Amino acid sequence: MEKNDSGWNLENSYAKLPGLFYTPLKLETVSDPKLVILNQLLAENLGLDAEALRSQAGIDILAGQALPANAKPIAQAYAGHQFGYFTMLGDGRAMLIGEQLTPAGERFDIQLKGSGKTPYSRSGDGKAALGPMLREYLISEAMHYLGIPTSRSLAVVTTGDPVYREKILPGAVLTRVAASHIRVGTFEYAAQWGTTADVKALADYTINRHFPGLLSEPNPYLGLLDAVIKAQAALIAKWQLVGFIHGVMNTDNVAISGETIDYGPCAFMDHYDPTTVFSSIDLQGRYAYRNQPNIGLWNLARLAETLIPLVDDNQQQALKLVEDSLRNFPSLYQADWLQGMRLKLGIADQEPEDERLIADLLGLMKQYQADYTNTFVDLTLDRTQSSELYESDAFKDWLDRWQARRERQEQTDHDSKQLMKQANPVVIPRNHQVEKVLQAATDQDDLKPLQQLVAVLQAPYDYNALNQEFMTPPEPSNSPYKTYCGT
Ligand code: AMP
Ligand code: MG
Repeated sequence: MEKNDSGWNLENSYAKLPGLFYTPLKLETVSDPKLVILNQLLAENLGLDAEALRSQAGIDILAGQALPANAKPIAQAYAGHQFGYFTMLGDGRAMLIGEQLTPAGERFDIQLKGSGKTPYSRSGDGKAALGPMLREYLISEAMHYLGIPTSRSLAVVTTGDPVYREKILPGAVLTRVAASHIRVGTFEYAAQWGTTADVKALADYTINRHFPGLLSEPNPYLGLLDAVIKAQAALIAKWQLVGFIHGVMNTDNVAISGETIDYGPCAFMDHYDPTTVFSSIDLQGRYAYRNQPNIGLWNLARLAETLIPLVDDNQQQALKLVEDSLRNFPSLYQADWLQGMRLKLGIADQEPEDERLIADLLGLMKQYQADYTNTFVDLTLDRTQSSELYESDAFKDWLDRWQARRERQEQTDHDSKQLMKQANPVVIPRNHQVEKVLQAATDQDDLKPLQQLVAVLQAPYDYNALNQEFMTPPEPSNSPYKTYCGT
């Protein structure tokens, strides 16, 4: 396959799956494509020439107006359980143009989100507005630099066309880059509307693409389930550790690759409260912060159901095997989370009482509504002096226990603090700042604040560049922060 000048080097392996998995698309015309933001570093990692992408020909590709060599635009079919209810979905406003093979030999989906209607659009217009696409760009890139597996954002372009929401908004297209867009919901779709041969084709494709080591295992399909269970346990533990709330953990938004995908109503928690929900439509709190691990397991059970016919010819035996695998999730999750929490507290070894120590700190943070991110930064920097929490006797007792615990390990105080600096971000995309920079970008055409925040979020563990402006939590407010999906 030949690489062209701008570095596009596409293949279309997904389009070799049976036809029910996708629909070929035609490009929709937009009025006036303009580049808003381009991820230069990501472009380079993908083997793309950033200058070429900035040219009108490059922008036309990012806006879905032209195709690079070997592109084959498709919309992927999938189903999903949305808030517990099963339904047919599919890419309603996204188009996979192909898979970019990078100079390092990796393969990434290149997907244009907001590129127009597809056969799966249902009542939607297939479009996206600038604000939400910039929000996805900002938060997905922040997640990447926090060290959390995620889809990434290569660019946002405006289309020059309006999109009609509650207000008229500028239309935009985000270029999303992901290890793949194979979802739990893709397997549910195959199981519901395909044959066992279709489920097998999808499973084989997934194993080849994401878990090739399983090919030599005696039961690769059970191995696939186990690998996804492990990846999701690790992913959700990482979310919990930074206070990330995905907001819409429907099975169609769970990637088999173990990356975070679908940045709709997600947001980071400021003060620690396990019941936190930001999404305006999540009235029951199904996807609240504290529920994320359990919902993760529920979603994995939906994947397991689809794999039963492949796991063993004897369906009773297959059921038993997948149930045994699912039972591993809570301990896998707990081990990842506990290990992460130990590092956040500068603890390198293990003692049975560590769980109690962590739970007691979280209990106090909840009681005093302490800022989740900053409490760990304060512990890292010994800045536990002036706040209601820090002045409480209960916290002072806890601090003594923690200091004693750290002294019982081999690590020096300096080494322990180094661990903390690698585990406790000083900056996260705080909701009030995200809103502020998006407003400047969309209402005043001022991209500087957004670019500045993007840059700050590229070094979330840099303790040499503490920037109070980006570390300050919002003023307490009576109207809780709300987020929206499908915007
Ligand atoms: P999400 O909440 O982003 O996971 O989206 C759920 C489903 O709605 C997916 O099938 C999306 O492709 C589809 N969808 C969301 N917004 C739109 C839109 N504006 N037009 C068409 N489909 C959409
Ligand atoms: Mg989705």
